[in-house]
Formats: sequence, structure tokens, C-alpha cells
Amino acid sequence: MHSLQCVLQVQRSLRWGPMASVSWLSLRMCMAHSSLSSTTCPNPERQEAGARKDFSSRLATGPTLQHFLRSASAPQEKLSSEVEDPPPYLTMDELLGRQRKVYLETYGCQMNVNDTEIAWSILQKSGYLRTSNLQEADVILLVTCSIREKAEQTIWNRLHQLKALKTRRLRSQVPLRIGILGCMAERLKEEILNREKMVDVLAGPDAYRDLPRLLAVAESGQQAANVLLSLDETYADVMPVQTSPSATSAFVSIMRGCDNMCTYCIVPFTRGRERSRPVASILEEVRKLSEQGLKEVTLLGQNVNSFRDNSEVQFNNAVSTNLSRGFTTNYKTKQGGLRFAHLLDQVSRVDPEMRIRFTSPHPKDFPDEVLQLIHERDNICKQIHLPAQSGSSRVLEAMRRGPYSCYPSLVIHIMPKASLEGVSLSSDFIAGFCGETEEDHIQTVSLLREVQYNMGFLFAYSMRQKTRAYHRLKDDVPEEVKLRRLEELITVFREEATKANQTSVGCTQLVLVEGLSKRSATDLCGRNDGNLKVIFPDAEMEDVNNPGLRVRAQPGDYVLVQITSASSQTLKGHVLCRTTLKDSSTYC
Ligand code: SAM
Ligand code: SF4
Repeated sequence: MHSLQCVLQVQRSLRWGPMASVSWLSLRMCMAHSSLSSTTCPNPERQEAGARKDFSSRLATGPTLQHFLRSASAPQEKLSSEVEDPPPYLTMDELLGRQRKVYLETYGCQMNVNDTEIAWSILQKSGYLRTSNLQEADVILLVTCSIREKAEQTIWNRLHQLKALKTRRLRSQVPLRIGILGCMAERLKEEILNREKMVDVLAGPDAYRDLPRLLAVAESGQQAANVLLSLDETYADVMPVQTSPSATSAFVSIMRGCDNMCTYCIVPFTRGRERSRPVASILEEVRKLSEQGLKEVTLLGQNVNSFRDNSEVQFNNAVSTNLSRGFTTNYKTKQGGLRFAHLLDQVSRVDPEMRIRFTSPHPKDFPDEVLQLIHERDNICKQIHLPAQSGSSRVLEAMRRGPYSCYPSLVIHIMPKASLEGVSLSSDFIAGFCGETEEDHIQTVSLLREVQYNMGFLFAYSMRQKTRAYHRLKDDVPEEVKLRRLEELITVFREEATKANQTSVGCTQLVLVEGLSKRSATDLCGRNDGNLKVIFPDAEMEDVNNPGLRVRAQPGDYVLVQITSASSQTLKGHVLCRTTLKDSSTYC
């Protein structure tokens, strides 16, 4: 259907009242993607008589075409203090959660954990309640991932289970509403609504502010969608709500989207263009987390080294980015703004007892200033996640990730600067990318052997529509070869990580306690500076700040643990004393 035709029909449908079968947000989707042909338009015969009663008054106050055009082009960033006018066809009351219970389920990366907290923060302000009991939920929202085919398959399977739950819902109860949020909503758009009719709401990663409105529309039995991407949405003013009251650490989003366009990756298409959150709002969030007693924050971005806060005009003449030697960018060099080293410096000063981590930096622009800060500051963890993806220059060129030849020299450059052998390195690898030969694969194996990563995230290549690889390259490595190569990479990674982690045996390490170990009620678990899991028996110990006092470790405490054994993923040891981050620096 032609988009304008859809605009007008939908506009008419909205004036018919709440029983119309397409929301104005579906309309926004319609306008943004005029090629979409499957959006259902209203059938007046299905309108209930009751809905017509107030037709005249709604007609008078209803939205005009200009309203829709304004809505579709208006910038989405809003200050929390601004009270948003409800759209004319939804009353303020309809936009409220009215104590409806929301169950949120998160899939995928840390960004999605953070997105879940943002979505919940928005819904909580609108009067929704949170439940951790699926059975009592009135609204179920899945925060989804599209990075690989398997991630999406998991969501389709989950939707089938939820369908049963929805059908079993009693007539006497509020109808159950199901929503798909995040990357999968963005990638598949109305395909989800068509394939799974029981999905009521779709919200892309930049549309969480619209959730109250989408849910209000869904209340009346319509499907509602907003998958518009934004150039400036950073949710800077939305303070994410910590989901677990006993949490010791939090993710803090510092930027959204990605401009790198690695040829295999769907992220630039699902999360849109790169944009950075203002430094001031990040610092405010970190301060609040510190006041809440949290002891660790991880700064999140698809490429944190590209962080560039241009919101403060006086810094906009600054020099352009320094690239790591031999690397190039896939986009025009950007200039000005406050950079990641500045942000890291500021964040690390908020609370000397708060550990700071960040992920992910791209190898192409790792600045020396950041290494210097890691070296200097006790509370910036000596942990660097530097995704290599492959050990073959040929494959890296095909991925548009810059030449591999520069990667080892970068790692060598990083290690001494970040202070000796203490630095913990991790990486992502993809097995079986387009055109990858046995020789390329062996080069990746060699890289894993050479660097001895402490942590690794290894994946079989999953072709994604829309990406450059989908259009230009051939997914020519057979599935069984991909899986065999992946297995080999995992085996080598584990062998080398075990060796790397065993260098800790006999050392005393500072561990931030998280809680009980999942495997044993008599053990506690926490994380060391390198983010490795450390397990130790729950025993009484001395508190270095209160000599003579015997204490048991609690979540959020820093303790010193003597490491007695190590595997590829875990360290084990026994606890020596409770301490502080500042005091412990003398031990390491
Ligand atoms: N922005 C980060 C970076 O560039 O390092 C990575 C973000 S991505 C969400 C996490 C990892 O997923 C990537 O580093 C890559 O290893 C993996 N990945 C991305 N697209 C993939 C695909 N199509 N198939 C398999 N793995 C993929
Ligand atoms: Fe994807 Fe590359 Fe961006 Fe990472 S840097 S999110 S891999 S496009």
C-alpha cells in the first residue's frame, strides 16, 4: 500500500476510537518504511457500537495529518522534566500502567541488560509494576538480540511457549500483552507481527520512550509498533533502574549505535548511527550508583574509543582521532568533542572504591591516554577486551576490520603500558567467515596461542541479511566446517587460558564479592580485577580496617583471596581478609 494512503486510512481509523486495528505508531512505521505492504488497515464493520458513541467529540479533538507528520519527524530526545502531551486520541489515564504487572526477559549482550533497565525505568514512571513471576504478568516484554541466527531462533521458540500462556488466560483477567523490544524488533519489523499474531507491541532500540503509548494502544486489542531509529537518542535523562537490589555492579551505557560497518555485523542496522551520551549525564548516573552502594560499573559502547561528546560547544574544535598504527576507519574521520580518555578519567574520580571497566574498544583507535589511565588508577581494572575476530589479515580485510599485521604490535604495545603481566586480555573471534581457508583458520589458532587470552567469546559465523557480507560475499564455509573450526578454537583458547590463569596460583588477589556460589552453598563467588570468577569458602576473616573484628564477606565487600587453583574460566582460593580497594593496592 502506498504510504500516504496508509496515512489517511489510519488517520480515519484513529478517529473511530479505540477499536481500530492499526495504531498511529504502526503508521509511523508505515511512513518510515513506505515499502511495507503488510500493515493491516481498519475494517469499520469491526468497530463496536460503544466505540462510535463518542465519535463526534473524538473527531473534533482527534489528530490531523499535520500531527502525524510532526510526530514522524520530531526529534525524540526529551528532558525528564518535560511533561509530554498525550496524543489526542489517548487520554492521560490510558497512558498509565494502572498497576499492570510487567515481566521483562533479557537476551543477548550487556547492552540489552542496560536497555532492559531503561525500558523498565520508563514503564515504572508510567505506573507499571514489575514482577519476576511470569504467571502473574499482564505484560511480557522480551528484550531481544539479532546478532546471530541462533539468538533469533531462541526468541521464536520462546514466543511459542508464551502463546500457550496467552491462550490459557482467563476471560475474567486482564488480557496478556506480549512485546518484542530491541534488535529483533528493529530487524524484522512487521514480519514479527504477521508471523506471530499474538505479539502486541514492537519497540526498536530507540523507541523505548514510546512504550507507555504502545502498550496503551495494545490495551485496546491493536498491534502497535515503533521501530524508528534516531540520530540523537541516548536516553541520557533516563536513570536505569537497578533490577537486583543486591547487585554489586551495573552497566552504564555511554553511547549507542555503531558507524564501523564491519561486513558481518547487523548492529549498525538494528541500533543505528553512533552517538555519544553527554559526559555530565554519565557522571550523574555513576554518582547515583555510587550513592546506592554499587562497587563496579562497566561503561558500555560498541566502540568506546569512538566516544565523542559534542554537547559542550567549547570542546568542538579539538583535534581529530589518532588511529592505532596501520589502522583505518570505514567512515570519514570525526573531529572535536570530549573523548573517552576524558570520560574515563572523570568516571574514575567519582568514587575511588568503585571499580571501572569498559567494553568494547575497537583495535583501530586504542588511545595511549586510556592505557596511561589504566596504569595510573587503582580503580580502573587492568582488563582489556580487544576483539580480534580473526588472525588472518585476508579475513580481516574482508571483515573491514583493518589489517591483522597491526594487531600483535598493538597487543605488545598495550601490555607493558597497562602495567606488566597483570593485564587481563579478552577477545571475540568468528570461525568460518566468508572465504576463510584452513590456512586463515590456522592463523587464528596461532593468535590464540600467542596472546594466551584470559577470556574469549567465540562464535561460528552466522550470515545476516542487510550486511555488506550478505550482499557482496559468499557464505561459503560449510556449516560442519564452521563448527569444527569453532570447536578447535575453543579447545585452543581453553588450553591457553588455563595456562594464563595458572600464573595467578599462589598470588593474592582483590576480589569483589558477588554472593553465594551457584554450585555450593558453602562457597562464595566474586570477580578479580581481570573480571575472572573467583570461588572461595565462606569463612570468617579479619577486617583490616577494624583490627580484631572477625567478619563474614557480604556482597559488595572487597576481600583478599589467595589463589590455589585455576581453570580456563575460574580461579579458586581461600579468603584472607576484608579490605578496601585503596588499601589493597599495596598487596598486588
Ligand atoms: N562492537 C564490538 C566490537 O566490534 O568488538 C562487538 C559487538 S558484537 C555485538 C559482539 C561480537 O559478536 C562481535 O565481536 C563478533 O565476534 C560477534 N558477531 C557479530 N556479528 C556476527 C555474525 N554475523 N556471526 C557471528 N558472530 C558475530
Ligand atoms: Fe558490529 Fe563492528 Fe560495530 Fe562491533 S564495531 S558493533 S562488530 S559493526
